[in-house]
Amino acid sequence: MKSLNIIFLGRSGSGKGTQAELLMKKFVLVNIDTGDILRKLARRKDKFGRTVLKTISHGKLVPIWLVIYCWFNQLLKIPSKKGIIMEGSPRQLEEAKILEEIFSWLGRENLKVVYLRTSTKEVTQRLLLRRICSKCGRGFSLNFTPNLKECSYCKGKLIRRSDDYPRAIKNRMLFFQKKILPVINYFRKKKIVIEVNGEGSVEEIHKRILKKLL
Ligand SMILES: [Zn+2]
Repeated sequence: MKSLNIIFLGRSGSGKGTQAELLMKKFVLVNIDTGDILRKLARRKDKFGRTVLKTISHGKLVPIWLVIYCWFNQLLKIPSKKGIIMEGSPRQLEEAKILEEIFSWLGRENLKVVYLRTSTKEVTQRLLLRRICSKCGRGFSLNFTPNLKECSYCKGKLIRRSDDYPRAIKNRMLFFQKKILPVINYFRKKKIVIEVNGEGSVEEIHKRILKKLL
């Protein structure tokens, strides 16, 4: 059987991380989270780390060569029979074309693009209230737990992601329109896009995705 390869796209704060994780468990996929790899690189205490941090904290795109490095470094470690899920990437048309080529070279032809649809207003509100555990990386919403000061799983300190501030959020919304929509439209032409309404409970959305994916 051919491995399942999923590209998961949606606005920042659309809940694509949560949904990607559910799919990952369901189909035993390997998750390639480019944002996460970049945030790790941004913690390096050198010129490179500082430049990455500066770039992502302003909600800007990192150079294509760096994105490809992040992907390829991970992809080569994964056996070809194992499926992959990529969340939030590719972030621009050129990356999408290169990724398609990489997948083809790796024999990963069974490619699906899941687009989680949400409004700008809804996700902006969610991002402003989002906090991340500094130890285990779990996400929390002050909307549901307004007085939460530490992670309820590992007691780690809750922090605001450097790109979850108003100016960076606004930039990310603009990027979605300018950069990610063209990626979605590119894959639409190839008829591999599955579009799902991203508003509702985590379970509801998960079911919607499975219904269209299977
Ligand atoms: Zn934690």
